[in-house]
Amino acid sequence: IILFGCNNRDENKIAIVIHGGAGIILKENISKSKEDSIINKLDEAISKGWELLKEGKSSEIAVIETIKILENSPLFNAGKGSVFNSEGKVENDASIMRGNDLNAGASSGTSNVKNPITLAANIMNHSEHLFLSGKGAENFAKNRNLEIVDNEYFHTKFRYNQLLNKKGEDKYGTVGCVAIDGNGNIVAGTSTGGMTNKKWGRIGDSPIIGAGTYANNSTCGISSTGSGEYFIRTVAAYQVSSLLENHNYDLKKAMYRVVHEKIGGIGGDGGMIGIDKNSNISIEFNTQGMYRAYVNKYGEKEIFLYEK
Ligand code: ASP
Repeated sequence: IILFGCNNRDENKIAIVIHGGAGIILKENISKSKEDSIINKLDEAISKGWELLKEGKSSEIAVIETIKILENSPLFNAGKGSVFNSEGKVENDASIMRGNDLNAGASSGTSNVKNPITLAANIMNHSEHLFLSGKGAENFAKNRNLEIVDNEYFHTKFRYNQLLNKKGEDKYGTVGCVAIDGNGNIVAGTSTGGMTNKKWGRIGDSPIIGAGTYANNSTCGISSTGSGEYFIRTVAAYQVSSLLENHNYDLKKAMYRVVHEKIGGIGGDGGMIGIDKNSNISIEFNTQGMYRAYVNKYGEKEIFLYEK
């Protein structure tokens, strides 16, 4: 769905891309009103991020504010709309990485932090560590005065029914954002509730730097979504960057190779979004659909839910 295609092909440095998860997303399974809600929310998020970049704000701020909009919506598997684990509880994972200094922050298994992406960013900017989990991460969030909520805040009927039905379809919905600002700084972030019915403190790829999230100003930024175990095994996000850095691939070719040959090759499914150092956007997935939107360096905004 093309909402608007502007303009005069003037190139900006700035560009932004988001995903709201990949999976079995078929038009016939989604009501018109749900489709409209998803498109509107993706539009709100991508437009906010683009506005911030246009005002001269950093890609870090754009990524955080864009992901917060998606986390605050019940439509995606992140923040408010996160899936339930096998114990009927919500546990969130998130990460963010900055491409200019390769600094990063990540958290996993938090159950009361309203916006996990802000926790990841606070860990990056205000702690001596990079990756915090569970109670410790929650205590750090309290110390940083981040918004704390009861676990019930995350409980939605839609996700609870998914747990009861243990339905494989529509289990995805992780959110992610990659942006490049006017200074050429690339930032990538990812936030998720993980997989429905996850057990034993399971952690997926989303909070793992190099798997779910990676950013390097000299190559690209990537945010992944899909069957996390496979993205960890293929070091998916970093592998794309490495193909650019070490093997002269362009972004599209590198993402194609990782998603279809590496991840697909061992039975994994999902997709990723990316931006390279020249502000080119690429999106790749091997599932039937992926919620995604971007504003490219020409200022053209596009939003898609299903196959290309
Ligand atoms: N990659 C996420 C995870 O494995 C799930 C998803 O993207 O839907 O936790």
